[in-house]
Amino acid sequence: MAQKMNAKCSICGTAYHVCSTCKSTKTLTPWRTIADTIDCYKIFTVVKQYTNKEITKDKAKEMLEKAVMPKELEPHIKAVVDEIMSNKTKSEKLAEKAEAKTKNNSEQ
Ligand SMILES: [Zn+2]
Repeated sequence: MAQKMNAKCSICGTAYHVCSTCKSTKTLTPWRTIADTIDCYKIFTVVKQYTNKEITKDKAKEMLEKAVMPKELEPHIKAVVDEIMSNKTKSEKLAEKAEAKTKNNSEQ
């Protein structure tokens, strides 16, 4: 029996198959009903938590960097991912801070 593509990944838009057993065992592998891969699900979780303001941009970026990005992203997901990934890293921020400090000192 051929597997029917009965689901679409909410993150990359890939059609995939979810068996009814998977659907009924939502508590065991809930991500199978949302995303086609665990990485897509990771991205979904980060995007969701970030847009709900449950995690900071720093944390979101850190989490996204651990996940494998699919080639394609749904436009609304991509917009959030791009926003998170454009965030400056901690070291970049520290460097900026140090620079500002030097500036302030020289102005005094
Ligand atoms: Zn996907």
